[in-house]
Amino acid sequence: MKPLLQELLDYNKHFVTNQEYEQFKTTKSPDKKLVLLSCMDTRLTEMATKAMGLKNGDVKHLMTAGGIISHPMGSTMRSILIAIHMLGTDEVMVMEHHDCGFGALRPGPMIDAMKKRGISEEVIETLRFTGVDLDEWFYGYDNIYDSVRENVDKIKNHPLMPKDVAVHGVIIEPDNGEIELVVNGYDHI
Ligand SMILES: [Zn+2]
Repeated sequence: MKPLLQELLDYNKHFVTNQEYEQFKTTKSPDKKLVLLSCMDTRLTEMATKAMGLKNGDVKHLMTAGGIISHPMGSTMRSILIAIHMLGTDEVMVMEHHDCGFGALRPGPMIDAMKKRGISEEVIETLRFTGVDLDEWFYGYDNIYDSVRENVDKIKNHPLMPKDVAVHGVIIEPDNGEIELVVNGYDHI
C-alpha cells in the first residue's frame, strides 16, 4: 500500500492537471466577513460551513480541539485578531459540538497515552516543575454551554478586540448539522 503522503501528492498532480481548482477559485477577502472558530472534529471539516450555506471563500475558518481558545495570546486568538484587523472580517462565531472528543478529554488518559508513545515520566514531571499545568491543559470541559459562553467571553473581552465586533456562540449536532444558538453576539455590541 502507498504511504499516505504519496497518495496525497499523487492526487494533487491530477487535481492540478485536471484544473479541479477552478471550482474553488475565490479571493483572499471573505465574502461573508465572518471568522468561524470550530472544533477540528473530522465530521465538521465540511459540515461546519455547509450546514450554514457557506462555500469556499465565504469565511475565515479556524479549527482547534473543541473549538477552544486556550490562551489569550496564543496563535488562535492571534489569527482571529488578524482576520478582524487586516482581512476584512467583522463578526466571529464560535462553534462547539455535541459528542466532542475534546470536551470528554481528561488529563489522566491523555498523559497515559503520551507515556505509551515514549514520553517519559521525567519529562512530564519537569514540565510540572516549570509551571505547566498539564492537568488543566488536557482537561476538556464539564458543560458545553458554559464552554461556549467562556470561549465567546474570551474573544469578546480580549483587550485587542474592537468593541463593535459581534461574537456569536453556537453548538452544532454532528449527526444532522442542526445548529443551536447559545450567544447572539448582536445583543452584546
Ligand atoms: Zn470536537
